[in-house]
Amino acid sequence: MRIELQRAVIHGDLHPRDCAICERHFEPGVVQSLMIGDEVREGYVCRECALNLGRQNPWKFPTPEEYEEADRRYPSSTFTTEEEYDAAVKGDPHAEYRASLVSLA
Ligand SMILES: [Zn+2]
Repeated sequence: MRIELQRAVIHGDLHPRDCAICERHFEPGVVQSLMIGDEVREGYVCRECALNLGRQNPWKFPTPEEYEEADRRYPSSTFTTEEEYDAAVKGDPHAEYRASLVSLA
């Protein structure tokens, strides 16, 4: 299992969802933690669960410092409106994935 950091693509992505670990209903932030097991998307995890993983096994999971840095670099979702999103990804099937990548390099 691994955690991939993703940035919300459009502001509408920020609706509450259930954590894939603790099953608590939570409000996701712009930087989101996607749990991937065996290359399958298991679901989004809440920030508390994500931070716990990072504290317990910082070699494998993003650390609290990495979340801080990601939050600083990505204060808002990539697109604000559906129209803006449609215009940007039109004809480019990879645009959405590229837009959601969080880079800490
Ligand atoms: Zn959780």
